[in-house]
Amino acid sequence: MLPDSITTLVTALAKLPGVGPRSAERIALHLVQADMGAVKNLAGSILVAREKTRFCEICGSLTELSPCSICEDPRRDATLICVVERAVDILSVEKSDAFRGKFHVLGGTISPLDGVEPEDLRIAELEKRLAEGAIREVVIALGTNVEGDATSHYLAKRLMRPGLKISRIGFGLPAGSGLEFADELTLNRALEGRREMS
Ligand SMILES: [Zn+2]
Repeated sequence: MLPDSITTLVTALAKLPGVGPRSAERIALHLVQADMGAVKNLAGSILVAREKTRFCEICGSLTELSPCSICEDPRRDATLICVVERAVDILSVEKSDAFRGKFHVLGGTISPLDGVEPEDLRIAELEKRLAEGAIREVVIALGTNVEGDATSHYLAKRLMRPGLKISRIGFGLPAGSGLEFADELTLNRALEGRREMS
Protein backbone atom coordinates (compact mmCIF):
# COMPACT_ATOMS: atom_id res chain seq x y z
CA MET A 1 0.00 0.00 0.00
CA LEU A 2 2.64 2.53 1.10
CA PRO A 3 5.76 3.28 -0.96
CA ASP A 4 8.79 1.18 0.00
CA SER A 5 10.73 4.09 1.49
CA ILE A 6 7.88 4.87 3.89
CA THR A 7 7.49 1.21 4.86
CA THR A 8 11.21 1.10 5.64
CA LEU A 9 10.82 4.20 7.83
CA VAL A 10 7.81 2.70 9.65
CA THR A 11 9.76 -0.49 10.35
CA ALA A 12 12.69 1.50 11.75
CA LEU A 13 10.46 3.70 13.93
CA ALA A 14 8.54 0.71 15.29
CA LYS A 15 11.80 -0.59 16.79
CA LEU A 16 12.00 2.44 19.09
CA PRO A 17 10.94 1.96 22.72
CA GLY A 18 7.33 2.88 23.36
CA VAL A 19 6.47 3.21 19.66
CA GLY A 20 3.92 0.66 18.48
CA PRO A 21 3.14 -0.08 14.80
CA ARG A 22 0.27 2.42 14.70
CA SER A 23 2.36 5.27 16.13
CA ALA A 24 5.27 4.36 13.85
CA GLU A 25 2.99 4.70 10.85
CA ARG A 26 1.57 8.00 12.10
CA ILE A 27 5.04 9.47 12.72
CA ALA A 28 6.33 8.28 9.34
CA LEU A 29 3.36 9.77 7.47
CA HIS A 30 3.86 13.02 9.37
CA LEU A 31 7.58 13.15 8.55
CA VAL A 32 7.24 12.50 4.82
CA GLN A 33 4.81 15.41 4.53
CA ALA A 34 6.63 17.77 6.88
CA ASP A 35 8.78 20.75 6.00
CA MET A 36 12.11 19.52 4.55
CA GLY A 37 14.15 21.80 6.83
CA ALA A 38 12.46 20.47 9.98
CA VAL A 39 13.08 16.87 8.90
CA LYS A 40 16.75 17.61 8.19
CA ASN A 41 17.06 19.23 11.63
CA LEU A 42 15.57 16.17 13.30
CA ALA A 43 17.79 13.74 11.39
CA GLY A 44 20.81 15.93 12.12
CA SER A 45 20.15 16.20 15.83
CA ILE A 46 19.74 12.43 16.13
CA LEU A 47 23.13 11.93 14.49
CA VAL A 48 24.89 14.61 16.53
CA ALA A 49 23.46 13.34 19.82
CA ARG A 50 24.46 9.78 19.00
CA GLU A 51 27.97 10.77 17.94
CA LYS A 52 28.62 12.98 20.99
CA THR A 53 27.19 10.71 23.66
CA ARG A 54 29.42 8.31 25.56
CA PHE A 55 29.45 6.55 28.93
CA CYS A 56 31.23 8.23 31.84
CA GLU A 57 34.34 6.14 32.60
CA ILE A 58 33.68 6.40 36.35
CA CYS A 59 29.93 6.23 36.96
CA GLY A 60 28.64 4.89 33.64
CA SER A 61 26.20 7.74 33.04
CA LEU A 62 25.55 9.25 29.61
CA THR A 63 27.79 12.22 28.96
CA GLU A 64 29.57 14.19 26.25
CA LEU A 65 32.68 14.58 28.37
CA SER A 66 34.11 11.77 30.49
CA PRO A 67 34.33 11.94 33.50
CA CYS A 68 30.86 13.50 33.64
CA SER A 69 29.94 16.75 35.37
CA ILE A 70 28.58 14.96 38.46
CA CYS A 71 31.75 12.89 38.93
CA GLU A 72 33.82 16.06 38.46
CA ASP A 73 31.73 18.25 40.80
CA PRO A 74 33.72 18.92 44.00
CA ARG A 75 30.61 20.22 45.79
CA ARG A 76 28.99 16.80 45.67
CA ASP A 77 29.60 14.37 48.52
CA ALA A 78 32.13 11.86 47.21
CA THR A 79 31.63 9.60 50.24
CA LEU A 80 28.10 8.78 49.13
CA ILE A 81 27.30 6.66 46.05
CA CYS A 82 23.78 6.06 44.75
CA VAL A 83 23.52 2.86 42.69
CA VAL A 84 20.93 2.98 39.91
CA GLU A 85 19.94 0.52 37.20
CA ARG A 86 20.15 2.75 34.13
CA ALA A 87 21.69 6.09 33.22
CA VAL A 88 18.23 7.65 32.87
CA ASP A 89 17.49 6.86 36.55
CA ILE A 90 20.06 9.50 37.51
CA LEU A 91 17.67 12.11 36.09
CA SER A 92 14.85 10.85 38.33
CA VAL A 93 17.04 11.00 41.45
CA GLU A 94 18.36 14.45 40.48
CA LYS A 95 14.80 15.76 40.03
CA SER A 96 13.86 14.55 43.51
CA ASP A 97 16.52 16.95 44.86
CA ALA A 98 17.19 14.67 47.84
CA PHE A 99 20.64 13.39 46.96
CA ARG A 100 23.93 15.28 46.80
CA GLY A 101 26.38 12.43 46.39
CA LYS A 102 27.75 10.63 43.34
CA PHE A 103 26.21 7.90 41.19
CA HIS A 104 27.00 4.47 39.83
CA VAL A 105 25.07 2.96 36.92
CA LEU A 106 24.82 -0.84 37.08
CA GLY A 107 23.57 -1.24 33.53
CA GLY A 108 20.73 -3.60 34.45
CA THR A 109 19.61 -5.97 37.18
CA ILE A 110 20.48 -9.60 37.77
CA SER A 111 17.99 -11.72 35.85
CA PRO A 112 19.10 -15.30 35.13
CA LEU A 113 15.99 -15.92 33.02
CA ASP A 114 17.06 -13.14 30.65
CA GLY A 115 20.67 -14.26 30.80
CA VAL A 116 21.84 -11.30 32.93
CA GLU A 117 24.42 -12.48 35.47
CA PRO A 118 26.36 -10.35 37.99
CA GLU A 119 29.39 -10.32 35.66
CA ASP A 120 27.28 -8.54 33.04
CA LEU A 121 26.72 -5.58 35.36
CA ARG A 122 29.15 -2.85 36.42
CA ILE A 123 29.70 -4.34 39.89
CA ALA A 124 33.46 -4.84 39.59
CA GLU A 125 33.74 -1.15 38.66
CA LEU A 126 31.79 -0.27 41.81
CA GLU A 127 34.09 -2.45 43.94
CA LYS A 128 37.04 -0.64 42.40
CA ARG A 129 35.55 2.70 43.46
CA LEU A 130 34.98 1.35 46.99
CA ALA A 131 38.58 0.17 47.15
CA GLU A 132 40.00 3.45 45.87
CA GLY A 133 37.86 6.12 47.50
CA ALA A 134 36.73 6.96 51.01
CA ILE A 135 33.13 5.84 50.50
CA ARG A 136 30.96 6.00 53.60
CA GLU A 137 27.61 4.86 52.24
CA VAL A 138 26.23 3.06 49.20
CA VAL A 139 22.58 3.90 48.58
CA ILE A 140 20.94 1.23 46.46
CA ALA A 141 18.19 2.80 44.37
CA LEU A 142 16.95 -0.07 42.20
CA GLY A 143 13.35 -0.81 41.26
CA THR A 144 10.97 -2.58 43.59
CA ASN A 145 10.40 -5.51 41.22
CA VAL A 146 11.72 -9.06 41.73
CA GLU A 147 14.99 -8.39 39.87
CA GLY A 148 15.53 -5.13 41.77
CA ASP A 149 15.03 -6.94 45.09
CA ALA A 150 17.33 -9.82 44.18
CA THR A 151 20.05 -7.49 42.86
CA SER A 152 19.85 -5.25 45.93
CA HIS A 153 20.35 -8.20 48.26
CA TYR A 154 23.15 -9.57 46.13
CA LEU A 155 24.89 -6.19 46.18
CA ALA A 156 24.43 -5.72 49.92
CA LYS A 157 26.13 -9.06 50.52
CA ARG A 158 28.91 -8.64 47.99
CA LEU A 159 29.79 -5.03 48.86
CA MET A 160 29.72 -5.51 52.62
CA ARG A 161 32.95 -4.33 54.26
CA PRO A 162 33.96 -2.70 57.54
CA GLY A 163 33.02 0.96 57.84
CA LEU A 164 30.65 0.94 54.87
CA LYS A 165 26.95 1.54 55.32
CA ILE A 166 24.70 -0.03 52.69
CA SER A 167 21.17 1.28 52.50
CA ARG A 168 18.26 0.88 50.14
CA ILE A 169 15.49 3.21 49.14
CA GLY A 170 12.03 1.77 48.70
CA PHE A 171 9.85 3.34 51.31
CA GLY A 172 6.67 4.56 49.55
CA LEU A 173 7.76 3.48 46.08
CA PRO A 174 5.04 1.70 44.12
CA ALA A 175 5.59 -2.07 44.31
CA GLY A 176 6.96 -3.82 41.26
CA SER A 177 8.15 -0.73 39.43
CA GLY A 178 11.23 1.23 38.48
CA LEU A 179 12.32 4.73 39.48
CA GLU A 180 10.82 6.33 36.38
CA PHE A 181 7.30 5.69 37.69
CA ALA A 182 7.86 7.50 40.97
CA ASP A 183 7.07 11.20 41.16
CA GLU A 184 9.63 13.61 42.60
CA LEU A 185 8.06 13.83 46.05
CA THR A 186 7.77 10.05 46.40
CA LEU A 187 11.39 9.60 45.33
CA ASN A 188 12.49 12.35 47.68
CA ARG A 189 10.76 10.55 50.59
CA ALA A 190 12.16 7.21 49.45
CA LEU A 191 15.69 8.61 49.53
CA GLU A 192 15.25 10.40 52.84
CA GLY A 193 13.69 7.28 54.34
CA ARG A 194 16.30 4.84 53.03
CA ARG A 195 16.96 1.93 55.30
CA GLU A 196 20.15 0.19 56.18
CA MET A 197 20.33 -3.34 54.79
CA SER A 198 21.71 -6.12 56.90
ZN1 LIG B 1 30.32 10.14 35.97
